[in-house]
Amino acid sequence: MRIDLHCHSCCSDGSDTPAELMNKAAAAGLDVVAITDHDNTAGWAEASSSLPPGLTLVPGAEFSTQIIRPDGRPKGVHLLGYLFDPTDPTIVAEQSRIRTNREERGLAIVAKLIDAGVRITPEQVLDAAAGAPVGRPHIARVLCDTALVGSIQQAFDQYLELPQFKVAKANTDIDIAITMIKVAGGVSILAHPWSRGGDEVITPTKLRALQDVGLNGVEVNHPDHDRDARQGLSRIASELDLIVTGSSDYHGKNKLLLLGQETTSVESLDRIIAASSGVTVPVVAP
Ligand code: AMP
Ligand code: FE
Ligand code: FE
Ligand code: ZN
Repeated sequence: MRIDLHCHSCCSDGSDTPAELMNKAAAAGLDVVAITDHDNTAGWAEASSSLPPGLTLVPGAEFSTQIIRPDGRPKGVHLLGYLFDPTDPTIVAEQSRIRTNREERGLAIVAKLIDAGVRITPEQVLDAAAGAPVGRPHIARVLCDTALVGSIQQAFDQYLELPQFKVAKANTDIDIAITMIKVAGGVSILAHPWSRGGDEVITPTKLRALQDVGLNGVEVNHPDHDRDARQGLSRIASELDLIVTGSSDYHGKNKLLLLGQETTSVESLDRIIAASSGVTVPVVAP
């Protein structure tokens, strides 16, 4: 069984439609795929109604959350939620708040770029997002498409990751997000916990505290994690009996990642399903 539990469609910052994502997942030899767009569940319906025979869908989302550092500064952390009730009023309201903030924040980043002499427009970025929650990859795509940079990665390195072009997102506090997913019958897994400085805030002690709040597991096998990170996280997960997952974090042509390049074990998927009560799926093709 090949299981990939973290993939983006054009309902966030991926480039494939949900139907294309399902077809490509089957073509890549996956048996189970999750759709985990940032801060929304808009792709679930199309994904579940366009499943190729033999492919199972695990509906999910990647929540924008934060951990407050001891000195009071917030650190953005991504939290994967699976199999939660997508009509849960708290989740619907919070995802809507985050999406509104994403648009304001995206336009604020564009304004900073324009001030610095970069010739792009807010309309180009809104067009690139095409109704999806605005993310920095949409700005990166505009920078690429207007030939200001040669790649998405270059857009991040030369512009979006520079301090003068960063604008904070109005993330959900992670304890609230974990609780919200649990109340909606879902299962929460920390996404790429030790990427981009995450190891500084997601310590073993913090992981135990998050588990006390209701965190179910950690994404250990992720392209951003080197061998040491995987070994370290596996050890902590095993000590705490947290569920361990692996996933590609596929974004279509917006990132150089392949569907199924990292995978999750059947045992871990079974634990996720057993811990969930939000939706009576995984959805299986008829
Ligand atoms: P945002 O949520 O708007 O801050 O954008 C974060 C998204 O940008 C995530 O999906 C990441 O995959 C992507 N991203 C973040 N940093 C980089 C980077 N240095 N290079 C390429 N993609 C990145
Ligand atoms: Fe993304
Ligand atoms: Fe992420
Ligand atoms: Zn992701």
